[in-house]
Amino acid sequence: MGSLKNEEELEGVEEGSKEAILYVNGVRKVLPDGLAHLTLLEYLRDIGLTGTKLGCGEGGCGACTVMVSYFDENLKKCVNQLPDIIAFDELKKVVPQFKEHNFRKMETSMRWSFHAVLYVLCPLALKSSMCYSYNIATWHYAVNACLAPLYSVEGMHVITVEGIGNRRNGLHPIQESLALSHGSQCGFCTPGFIMSMYALLRSSQTPPSEEQIEESLAGNLCRCTGYRPIIDAFRVFAKTDDVLYTDRSSLSLQEGEFICPSTGKPCSCKSGSSNDKDAAKSNMSCVDRYEPISYSEIQGSTYTEKELIFPPELLLRKLTPLNMNGFGGLKWYRPLGLKHLLELKARYPDAKLVVGNSEVGIEMRLKRIQYQVLISVINIPELTMLSVKDDGLEIGAAVRLSSLQNLLRKVLADRVAYETSACKAFIEQIKWFAGTQIKNVASVGGNICTASPISDLNPLWMAAGAKFRVINCKGNIRTVLAENFFLGYRKVDLAHDEILLSIFLPWTRPFEFVKEFKQAHRRDDDIAIVNAGMRVYLQEKEEKWMVSDASIAYGGVAPLSLSASKTKDFLIGKIWNRELLQDALKILQKNILIKDDAPGGMVEFRKSLTLSFFFKFFLWVSHQMDGQRFFLETVPISHLSAVQPFHRPSVTGMQDYEVVKHGTAVGSPEIHLSSKLQVSTSKKIMLQ
Ligand code: FAD
Repeated sequence: MGSLKNEEELEGVEEGSKEAILYVNGVRKVLPDGLAHLTLLEYLRDIGLTGTKLGCGEGGCGACTVMVSYFDENLKKCVNQLPDIIAFDELKKVVPQFKEHNFRKMETSMRWSFHAVLYVLCPLALKSSMCYSYNIATWHYAVNACLAPLYSVEGMHVITVEGIGNRRNGLHPIQESLALSHGSQCGFCTPGFIMSMYALLRSSQTPPSEEQIEESLAGNLCRCTGYRPIIDAFRVFAKTDDVLYTDRSSLSLQEGEFICPSTGKPCSCKSGSSNDKDAAKSNMSCVDRYEPISYSEIQGSTYTEKELIFPPELLLRKLTPLNMNGFGGLKWYRPLGLKHLLELKARYPDAKLVVGNSEVGIEMRLKRIQYQVLISVINIPELTMLSVKDDGLEIGAAVRLSSLQNLLRKVLADRVAYETSACKAFIEQIKWFAGTQIKNVASVGGNICTASPISDLNPLWMAAGAKFRVINCKGNIRTVLAENFFLGYRKVDLAHDEILLSIFLPWTRPFEFVKEFKQAHRRDDDIAIVNAGMRVYLQEKEEKWMVSDASIAYGGVAPLSLSASKTKDFLIGKIWNRELLQDALKILQKNILIKDDAPGGMVEFRKSLTLSFFFKFFLWVSHQMDGQRFFLETVPISHLSAVQPFHRPSVTGMQDYEVVKHGTAVGSPEIHLSSKLQVSTSKKIMLQ
């Protein structure tokens, strides 16, 4: 790898193009140098796309949500066969003499050029197939434009609410549905909700579930309309399942019987049997009540706008390192290789590495901390790799949380259950980590290196026995146990010339259990009051289940994520039974001390959480062990609720009122006149 030795090499470090482009709603934009201080949101609003709003400015409200699409260079290698097959089929229609083997013989880049040329020459013929093939290798995800540095989306396609539909050419079905469902009032948060939903639909191969829809909206806040009509509007895009509305399986329904979404009971309000007076009377409230809109009402027949595809130019374009500037001497680098990154770090030891910018952005904008050099590391293969190994998972430091979440789910399906106890814990913890927009950009390494005392993941890395690989500017690699990495308040074991390279998460062994805990004011998108990660490894010795190894780590109880080492030492070698529980609780109480004037307050509550988490862990492990030979510690039925995984069924709400016509709009659910503007607008909306 080598270190920097002479001036010539230093010159090389500064290499990088100043040619930056971006597509916004299908339109090519050249990004001039000098804009490194701008966020994507500032840029969008500067060019007149004011549908995307500035709300909190810290990624918490979702009013600035846009969809970003990028073409995955690595995936391109894997899927370049598929677009060929599709493009070849289309090509045959235009040039019947063309032979498949001729197409196959072409260089990959030439084939992709061919796709692009064909798209220009005969867009209608190729549109659907090209869309399909591009979709395979193109990622679409919602982001908070208020936190995304402008140059971080270089070479990508940004779609804003103005890009999906408008009043003149027709509203997109998502926009139409929200307008019809009375899902907007002041209209401020509306574009953000629409873009979150749009990104979900664009990135889903099959219709999402209601749960997925709600999850994708966790990062969007609404303060005046209320969530019921918004959820009602988007629910129509979900997989439908009548069983959700009733205790009775849909198979057991009589022919022609309909489950009323309002009452959850079989009724005839949709069957048209109006001559049955009694039935009509008993269902009167159903018929006359205002009902949520159904999918057929928003089939998007007015939508003539074509769905924006990923720009062919971005498929063909080769990514280059970037070297851009911004206001006040700010420098923005985007190296494409680890060597270049380490050289930059050697030259600028104080440089901030940036992935999702969800910490750095807040420090720079809200805390007014000035960083002079920012290095974007989202294109360094060694930092973005995810590798499933024989002994565990290797996770690049720049891997985004949503990518990690997807991999963990896959691993769960592929590997034997006992190996994935830690993976399950991470899946659960990431579920309640921020909103989707943040998870789509925030990185594993960014969370670790920020070393927030309330990080949701750091106590889990510690408990799960993870190891961090650290590399210095000379290319030397060392490994640190997660447990030893956190040194103080936002202080980690990284020298000035070091960066975090990757994280190794070992598989769990049989009878080794890892569990996550988080208590916040609310479940979705909220920071923890106290969180924890716990692990225990039990082994049977002389007909008793003994603790062979353990690890208990807490967040939210000290200036750093804290290991309860005395409790751990006590547990090792003990029999897993009630006596252990009682004694461990006593030790834990003294081991984790929260001062009366500790920042964050709620000291008594936080103390009780540290104990109750351990109590729940004890019950949970005992429940997992239930039925094992010689294991006697059964969980009483009265305690079972403490071990059940939390599951919140998708929400349903109902607004119950009769529609009485007075000859005026008063009292009737009329769609308000500005709704169509609000769901699509680039016009400024005046708030009261
Ligand atoms: P960045 O801001 O890009 O970087 C953060 C820091 O890490 C910087 O100092 C950077 O230089 C350093 N860094 C990054 N990569 C490396 C590397 N490879 N080597 C050395 N240093 C590196 N956190 C939680 O734990 N739970 C939550 O529920 C939660 N909710 C949030 C909600 C919102 C709205 C926001 C804005 C933040 C939230 N966070 C939460 C915190 C934040 O999202 C995480 O800390 C995130 O993982 C940081 O990742 P990033 O890629 O955005 O970091």
